[in-house]
Amino acid sequence: MKILVAVKRVIDYNVQIRVKEDGSGVHTENVKMSTNPPDDNAVEESVKLKESGKVKEVVAISIGEDKVQETIRKALAIGADKGIHVKAESYIEPLGIAKILKKIVEKEKPDMVFLGKQAIDDDCNQTGQMLAAMLNWPQATFTSKVNLKDKSVEIIREIDEGLETIEVNLPAVVSCDLRLNEPRFASLPNIMKAKKKPIEQLNAKDLGLDLTNRIQQIKVEEPPKRKAGIKVANVAELVSKLKNEAKVL
Ligand code: AMP
Repeated sequence: MKILVAVKRVIDYNVQIRVKEDGSGVHTENVKMSTNPPDDNAVEESVKLKESGKVKEVVAISIGEDKVQETIRKALAIGADKGIHVKAESYIEPLGIAKILKKIVEKEKPDMVFLGKQAIDDDCNQTGQMLAAMLNWPQATFTSKVNLKDKSVEIIREIDEGLETIEVNLPAVVSCDLRLNEPRFASLPNIMKAKKKPIEQLNAKDLGLDLTNRIQQIKVEEPPKRKAGIKVANVAELVSKLKNEAKVL
């Protein structure tokens, strides 16, 4: 069995985001970048399945500028076998990313595609769903547990009402939630070994796809600053303030 796992390079989740003065986006120069957090869970789960003997090969893919190779190398250091870098100089929205992933799926023929549930930069939560639709494969989203069987995969999903268990036939698209597992740190020897693992390079322009973005970003603004909180002496004062000042009671 083979897994293709999609990893996106994003601004590290600990970084305080700074919006550009002209509202055209956010500053990315000299900013720490990391793997999108749920993609770390997707890599961890793929590698665990490989270690359990159920999966033979894990291929990590990232789409973007040359620097995304660092993100691929990290997946290789965790335990992926090979990487694919699809070079793209500018932002491609989820529809385009899904089209590229479909092309690679047709070439690599994986049994499952693992993705993060959502990228923390664009917060789209679309790529996996679009890919499943284009491939006409079943999808399991917001996955918090994976039980891989011979021809299907049983998935526990986190939904508003609690935990939902579903079973989808393979091949399938699986998007991973943060609670799926605890991603490991790559050890130094594995980081060294990962340097020797192959990364295939392709150019998005050469794939014969229409990658024109359909969404136009008009403006990016800082969220309104939160006001400082206050301390109240007792419950009576709290209720009075909620009633008379906040007017929420
Ligand atoms: P999104 O639909 O943008 O929220 O992204 C969902 C998931 O799609 C991410 O967690 C990644 O697994 C994958 N993905 C999105 N963009 C890329 C990219 N440029 N390269 C690799 N994977 C990506």
